[in-house]
Amino acid sequence: MTILESTAANQYDAIVVGSGISGGWAAKELTKHGLRTLVLERGRDVKHVTDYPTGMMSPWEFEHRTQLPLEIKEANPIVSKCYAFYEGSTHFFVKDAEHPYVQEKPFDWIRGYQVGGKSLLWARQTQRWSDFDFEGPARDGFAVDWPIRYADIAPWYSYVEKFAGISGNKDGLPNLPDGEFQKPHEMNCVEDYFQKQIASKYKDRNVIQGRCAHLTEPKDIHFQQGRAQCQHRTICERGCPFGGYFSSNASTIPWAAKTGKMTLRPNSVVHSIIYDEKKGKATGVRVIDANTKKMTEYYARIIFVNAAALNTNLVLLNSTSNRFPNGLGNDSGVLGKYVAFHNYRATISAEYDGFLDMKTEGRRPNSPYIPRFRNVHKQETNFLRGYAAGFNAGRGTYTNQDGIGADLKKNLMNPSWGGWHVGSHMMGETIPKENSTVQLDPNKKDPFGIPQLAINMFYDDNDEKMIKDFHEQFTEMYTAAGFKNIRTRDSKQAPGLDIHEMGGVRMGKDPKTSMLNKWNQLHACKNVFVTDGASMTSTSTQNPSLTYMALTARAVDYAVKEMKKQNL
Ligand SMILES: Cc1cc2nc3c(=O)[nH]c(=O)nc-3n(C[C@H](O)[C@H](O)[C@H](O)COP(=O)(O)OP(=O)(O)OC[C@H]3O[C@@H](n4cnc5c(N)ncnc54)[C@H](O)[C@@H]3O)c2cc1C
Repeated sequence: MTILESTAANQYDAIVVGSGISGGWAAKELTKHGLRTLVLERGRDVKHVTDYPTGMMSPWEFEHRTQLPLEIKEANPIVSKCYAFYEGSTHFFVKDAEHPYVQEKPFDWIRGYQVGGKSLLWARQTQRWSDFDFEGPARDGFAVDWPIRYADIAPWYSYVEKFAGISGNKDGLPNLPDGEFQKPHEMNCVEDYFQKQIASKYKDRNVIQGRCAHLTEPKDIHFQQGRAQCQHRTICERGCPFGGYFSSNASTIPWAAKTGKMTLRPNSVVHSIIYDEKKGKATGVRVIDANTKKMTEYYARIIFVNAAALNTNLVLLNSTSNRFPNGLGNDSGVLGKYVAFHNYRATISAEYDGFLDMKTEGRRPNSPYIPRFRNVHKQETNFLRGYAAGFNAGRGTYTNQDGIGADLKKNLMNPSWGGWHVGSHMMGETIPKENSTVQLDPNKKDPFGIPQLAINMFYDDNDEKMIKDFHEQFTEMYTAAGFKNIRTRDSKQAPGLDIHEMGGVRMGKDPKTSMLNKWNQLHACKNVFVTDGASMTSTSTQNPSLTYMALTARAVDYAVKEMKKQNL
């Protein structure tokens, strides 16, 4: 591969690798401070509204009525396992052959390579972490201590929540801090009933409405972004032309573009970061053009790596030099180690025979949430940490499809209602371990000649005990609420389908045992910042993306101050 001559035209103040949830925030914050920022995105451009081809389609307008054709399923056994991959959304997911990787142990890697990354696809659940999460590793003796606590990040949660638009209730729970909420979605009668049942029977368990990145009461700042109130269409993963939910495409990327300071370069696969030994810092990145496969170098004073957790590991591992033969900033040897995920294997479902005079109407892009209640204040089970859970209730219908013409129409318009179904899914914290790793495969390369990522993540005994406990506790809670026909299930799914992979470039206090300091800055290469899931020291039970946003905004604020002091 030839390296094209790189010139002063390739010089920027800042480079951001990746334009998904965290990269979008980096772009917005860096340009806000007037920095000329180059955003490098390996996938194609996706413009808000105009590049959502299925965003306004009705089911009957799809060739397969939204179902996945067999040939797509057969060609994509991995991504087809993702619940959000269907005829309306396939164009936003990475297909199995596109970017191969090595499964040292089974791992379903779900990715979105385009401007906006997975922000177009996510389920938008956004809970803050609490000190029970940040203090977890120190209290329970795993991984390393987080170098930050809730107080360090709380103002940044508020900052990103106001801009992104988060709906929810102020529930006043110490283990799930309240945020800057727009009005919450409603619970239906059975969800409300379960909430009251649990509140009356348990002191430490709560059923609350989910907190999610949907505009229920858009404010001026959202209208300025060109976004409008969520229409409850619940076809979010096709891209929302209303901007009803937060995505980089609807929000941060166009906001950054408006400053005139952002250069967005799609189809730009970052190969590695360039380290200058004489200067003792990173000077830029090597980029392969996805169309021409030519390599170009781009330079900047600071670099934010936001390629999503595992790809960020890959970029750093592939950034070798005399000074860093094992990957950029990897003096500690922990790069690519202590990766973890969320345990989503366990589910439970049941039926309820009350409220037969009630039904739901319309749709809701959100559902109730049960914050972690195990081992919160102290260790009380035979496994470490705990799990949160979703909860939802709905009433099934049966449609009589007999008849023809007017009779058929009449039957279709008058479904008969079945009973209520309820269900929960577990969201368990997993323990980052040294032997849970991602590394570069020594032999296999991807279509760009970059080493493939070899993924070695697995469930352990702690996870198995947690699944058992979830089934027991939720069977007890469901029984207490009078639910019938309770069925527990362990999907046995491989890690990955939770789509919350984290770690490998963890934060920590000690450069000997961590990669990043409390500002998400590489201990050993201060002008490189990692603020996506790779930086996470532990996984908590909460959905992680809100925390990536807050860490990113916080790190940019710090970086800009350091640049002003000429420290970077
Ligand atoms: C179906 C689904 C449901 C989800 N639900 C939730 C949820 O409810 N709550 C939650 O918190 N999270 C959820 N997630 C996870 C969430 O989407 C991710 O945590 C989040 O998008 C991570 O942000 P990121 O910026 O790190 O990565 P991404 O948003 O994935 O963006 C990374 C970007 O980097 C680009 N990139 C990668 N490698 C390179 C390279 N070498 N060079 C240049 N560019 C590169 C990619 O193309 C991509 O655009 C869900 C994800 C999915 C798919």
